[in-house]
Amino acid sequence: MANIERFAPSPTGPLHLGHAFSVLTAFERAKKAHGRFLLRIEDIDASRCRPEWEALIFEDLAWLGITWKKPVLRQSTRIPAYRAALQSLWNMGLLYPCTCSRADIKSAANAPQEGATLHGPDGLIYPGTCRTKLLPDHMPTTPLRLKMPEAFSRSIGDIVVARQNMGTSYHLSVVVDDAFQDVTHVTRGEDLAGATPIHKYLQKLLGLPVPEYFHHRLIRDENGKRLAKRDNARSIQKYRADGATPQDIRKVIGL
Ligand code: GLU
Repeated sequence: MANIERFAPSPTGPLHLGHAFSVLTAFERAKKAHGRFLLRIEDIDASRCRPEWEALIFEDLAWLGITWKKPVLRQSTRIPAYRAALQSLWNMGLLYPCTCSRADIKSAANAPQEGATLHGPDGLIYPGTCRTKLLPDHMPTTPLRLKMPEAFSRSIGDIVVARQNMGTSYHLSVVVDDAFQDVTHVTRGEDLAGATPIHKYLQKLLGLPVPEYFHHRLIRDENGKRLAKRDNARSIQKYRADGATPQDIRKVIGL
């Protein structure tokens, strides 16, 4: 089977040099392997995604010389598939409703073991407050958490698989869609390395194939800080407006 790579941005702001590095790395790995390259729009968070950011993603990528298979898959069209995956996890007895706020989690987590790590790759490590509560008969539309095995409980905690007002979460959607799109190779930044064990665990539970994961170095600013979407100074759009060429971008990011 030919390699299938993907780039999966969220249209929540302008792409920056870090995205350029990520997409060019994935695109070139696909090309080198005579494989295919897909673009997927991760727009499950309607409160943060904007059509104008999506339009800019297409423009920036085309300008960088990236080509992708069309039509592009948008996660906002995939909610029934995510609910079906959640339903099978629910049927296995692995999910439970949880409406704890960040403040609730912080105060519960602080109490027993002062000084312990509170953050995992999924944010604050959930202390399991709602784990043992009585379950409703049917899977509710409230936020849901996944019971993680003992080995993960101290470093990751029970992850959210369905968020408020989304009906899904980043981890669940990514895993369902990588399988749906037959992705064989996932190329993404080191910042997501901590999410990979979560994704592999979900794949095992859902009986999905496990792609090969490659985590690349991150592009940092002069203070060593990882670039963020609010760093407009390093947005691809800004470089384009200033008359840079795609070749200039490659030079800046060391490609
Ligand atoms: N949508 C994620 C982001 O923009 C990337 C997902 C992934 O590569 O797994 O950070």
